[in-house]
Amino acid sequence: MHTTALVLFSGGQDSTTCLAQALTRYQRVETIAFDYRQRHSVELDARLVVLQQLREQFPEWAGKLGEDHLLDLGVLGQVSETSLTRDTAFKMESSGLPNTFVPGRNLLFLTLAAALAYRRGLEVLVTGVCETDFSGYPDCRDDTMKAMQLALSLGMDKRFLIETPLMWIDKADTWRLADSIGGSRLVDLIIEHTHTCYLGDREHRHAWGYGCGACPACELRARGYAGFVGG
Ligand code: ZN
Repeated sequence: MHTTALVLFSGGQDSTTCLAQALTRYQRVETIAFDYRQRHSVELDARLVVLQQLREQFPEWAGKLGEDHLLDLGVLGQVSETSLTRDTAFKMESSGLPNTFVPGRNLLFLTLAAALAYRRGLEVLVTGVCETDFSGYPDCRDDTMKAMQLALSLGMDKRFLIETPLMWIDKADTWRLADSIGGSRLVDLIIEHTHTCYLGDREHRHAWGYGCGACPACELRARGYAGFVGG
């Protein structure tokens, strides 16, 4: 039985749901995120608020929620020219991928997470990657995760489990999953404090939370929420 986990936690809806689920499953849960000079630090700020809110609103989880780790990955800016790191607008490329895509970014995240998990004695890596997303990031696919699990386990001579609770569910089901884990208390926390919007908008409040309401991330979150409340 695995008892410890490291959650890749960005402060968004998906990774917050994954973190909550890990807190119901494991005795010790730590969190990790990467600062690669996102155009908006809103997400990095949001994650600290979400961690604090989880501790306050779910005292039953507070004792399991351990250290939070923020790794500096400014080096990603040297290999990418995307709207996440430069002042260019979000758009879809002819490849079908958004221009926010940094090739292999998630492979790097997982490798660093595994290295930290090794040092911290954590067995399970939890990530909110999803194949049903509009984006279709190849480094978030199920086959990629399975290959990474094998490569990391072999390369570090330690058995890692990569857990992907959201891999095959859509955004409405992600809301439903949060509801089943922590009820309306968790759903409300996610609405109020998690951040998803690509534009870093924390001014406009919708039924599903804060955001510009027009970028692909907002559209996805809004559509999922509509599906959730609609049935
Ligand atoms: Zn937005």
